[in-house]
Amino acid sequence: MPTYLGLDAVAFRTGCAIPRGMTAYEPVIGLEVHAQMRSRTKLFCGCPTDYGAPPNEHTCPVCLGLPGALPVPNQKAIELAVQAGLALECEVASQSVFARKNYFYPDLPKGYQISQFELPLNGKGHLDIEVDGETKRIGITRIHVEEDAAKNIHGAGSSAVTLVDFNRGGTPLIEIVSDPDLCSSDEAEAYLRKLRDILMFIGVNDGNLEEGSFRCDANVSIRPVGQKELGTRTELKNINSFRFVKKAIEHEIARQEGVLQSGGEIVQETRTWSEGQGKTISMRGKEEAHDYRYFPDPDLPPVVVAEERIAELRAAMPELPVAKRLRWQADMGLTEYDAGVLSAHPAVATYFEEVATTLAARSGKSLEKVGKKAGNFVQAELLRHVTTSGLEASFPVAATSVAELLASVEDGTINGKIAKKVFADMVDTGKAPKLIIEEQGLSQVTDTGAIEDEVRRIIEANPSQVEQYRSGKESLIGYFVGQVMKATKGAANPKMVNETLRRLLDEQ
Ligand code: ADP
Ligand code: MG
Ligand code: ZN
Repeated sequence: MPTYLGLDAVAFRTGCAIPRGMTAYEPVIGLEVHAQMRSRTKLFCGCPTDYGAPPNEHTCPVCLGLPGALPVPNQKAIELAVQAGLALECEVASQSVFARKNYFYPDLPKGYQISQFELPLNGKGHLDIEVDGETKRIGITRIHVEEDAAKNIHGAGSSAVTLVDFNRGGTPLIEIVSDPDLCSSDEAEAYLRKLRDILMFIGVNDGNLEEGSFRCDANVSIRPVGQKELGTRTELKNINSFRFVKKAIEHEIARQEGVLQSGGEIVQETRTWSEGQGKTISMRGKEEAHDYRYFPDPDLPPVVVAEERIAELRAAMPELPVAKRLRWQADMGLTEYDAGVLSAHPAVATYFEEVATTLAARSGKSLEKVGKKAGNFVQAELLRHVTTSGLEASFPVAATSVAELLASVEDGTINGKIAKKVFADMVDTGKAPKLIIEEQGLSQVTDTGAIEDEVRRIIEANPSQVEQYRSGKESLIGYFVGQVMKATKGAANPKMVNETLRRLLDEQ
């Protein structure tokens, strides 16, 4: 088994905990995720895949399904799919086959979708999720490559009309099919979030649920506790929000339980989640279901990916979040929680790492010494200014500027408190930290003479406190430190202030 994740087998949770309030049945869930691959062009033609272009602009005879047009596979897309397979530790097939999935629908101009059936690109794999602090391994049945359908727009302009936008038709997708190993809506959500993270980190998918580039079908059944055989399932179609998936699954489990308890039977059917009505609704039954008459597409030869190429793709793969977390914990002493927060988004992870390594280089200190400080600052000060949309993230200031700021804390120019103030100004004005420190005279006063002058002034100005201190009320030292810091606008080195005060107060 490949071990490049840096993870050895852990103790796995097996089976299902029976959810509260449900004694007679246990839920079984399998997920099918369609993820759009980040290829510039479509799967079988050169049309761009950009989202949001005017309708039908990104089309050609191939993706419009015009007679005589021939598909040419997109190497980049297939290689992205191989990387997805590697990240989920699938067996990658050196030879896979594109097949026609035949059905009629206005968004499918050829009358068939090019997909994979008997010989998919990626075979068995798995994804480990955390459930109540334990690790549970969810089997991946397969990951195949297919083209997306176009988009029907119902009721645009006039409610009697359906328009078709072919821009999306032919966009490269992977379909990731899980084994029926999930037992609750929480597990399903954990699986989906982790899957999305992985695909985003390796650059295969932009994780943009709103734009539909990561969509999920949930298959749900229940069975009497202890029964081996699976119950009849329903399929909840195309849900593009984690929250809705969770709600839809919960509702569906309760609905099925109600049906069985009242002596009814579950009908195998496709259902959809209605957010408005807060329930799942039947879309179509088994009668109309699935006779796709798959057969190998005669226009396309088998997809061959050489072993050496698979090895290259494996080597070129960006580090996965779980490996980053472990590395940061080991190299910088980050806590598991902090490492988790900082690795939640690929752009944030890259940013944090740049702050930490630049800070180490500038301050001449080790990552072990400064990494945790960089992590704390990024978490406490920076993250609230960061907005993300899919893979994109916008940061208020450059990582190198944050490193520069923190380096001036390391070399004693300013203290941590002033650093926060300088950072706020950096965000507001876009100025470099050095400039802000200079302009506002924020340099920590480490000049003994200057500190001593200020301390003498404060001692002279507070004769009664001095007397009390000298007659034993030592706690007043805090008061004096406060006065000096106030007088220097927080710029004095507090340790030096403290020492100087004690020295001068103690000399009678
Ligand atoms: P199809 O292609 O018709 O949707 P598959 O057999 O490929 O059917 O299964 C699709 C998904 O349904 C998989 O994720 C699988 O784990 C899940 N699944 C199959 N049977 C059940 C069941 N009885 N209960 C819950 N999930 C199931
Ligand atoms: Mg299905
Ligand atoms: Zn095209």
